[in-house]
Amino acid sequence: MEKKVILITGASSGIGYSAARILSQQGHKVYGAARRVELMEPLREFGLVPVKLDVTDENSIREAVKTVIEAEGRIDVLVNNAGYGSFGPIESVPEQEARMQMEVNVFGLAAMIRCVLPYMRERHGGRIINISSIAGKLVLPYGGWYHVSKYSVEALSDALRIELKQFGIKVSIIEPGGIKTPWGTIAAEHLEKTCEGTVYEDEGGQMARFLRKGYATNFLSSPDVIGRAIARAANARRPKTRYRTGRIAGTAVFVHSIIPARWWDALMKFSVKNLYNLARRVDEASS
Ligand code: NDP
Repeated sequence: MEKKVILITGASSGIGYSAARILSQQGHKVYGAARRVELMEPLREFGLVPVKLDVTDENSIREAVKTVIEAEGRIDVLVNNAGYGSFGPIESVPEQEARMQMEVNVFGLAAMIRCVLPYMRERHGGRIINISSIAGKLVLPYGGWYHVSKYSVEALSDALRIELKQFGIKVSIIEPGGIKTPWGTIAAEHLEKTCEGTVYEDEGGQMARFLRKGYATNFLSSPDVIGRAIARAANARRPKTRYRTGRIAGTAVFVHSIIPARWWDALMKFSVKNLYNLARRVDEASS
């Protein structure tokens, strides 16, 4: 297998950490980037180099990319994985937080691409792997701004793939379903904070409890499922445009695509009320 120079954002936790480990173990030269660099220390034993990065800071992005270019002279694969779920009712999420969600999940991703592309174009090759979500294909209540961000990643990646074909640069989108990482707790914390003391406290609170419970069960897929999908996108001679995998990913997107919007709304309304109990039962059955 051809050894590649790979830069992965959000490699300090969850999916990014898993992808960084798998790709390093395959012998690639992997640079793992995140704010909490210390969390990537254990991956040094596989040859990974931790790099400090905040995707909301253009200087930080430039420095991180410079570190890789100065050491390796090239970046073959950019994995844009850094992101979080800013859940909360549209009416109560402060504008500043909505902008931050877009800053990290969309503008940060775009800034990474802008910074890396000149080096890829120079070599007439490379690939960009953007971590989207099934949240870029369907919408859950109280996830509004997160969905805006992931629908944006889908659109941006589709446009990019066509624009970069002429330069021999390939673009793949990863669409994970539910993956057991700290993502769920972070989304629940945002939701609880923005619902508190508002008219959404009751229903939003139920959704937050479901997120907490659901993400604590073993029903969700391991981050390694997505780590392996990212590795396939990085290694394949002809990578697919989309890799949709992880718990309920295919089923949820399929159901959403065939039922009328009002049925989906009703299903979501029912789910907010009942999924917490379902998650609790699944947890009891699997423990
Ligand atoms: P984690 O919370 O485990 O990891 C998120 C990563 O993003 C961390 O490494 C964090 O690093 C990094 N990050 C967050 N903000 C910034 C920032 N400003 N600059 C640089 N890095 C940042 O979540 P997941 O592994 O689950 O999430 C990874 C991606 O997968 C996200 O884009 C998420 O939306 C997506 N996804 C997750 C799903 C799931 O069910 N878990 C499902 C579908 C998609 P640090 O804080 O150290 O900077």
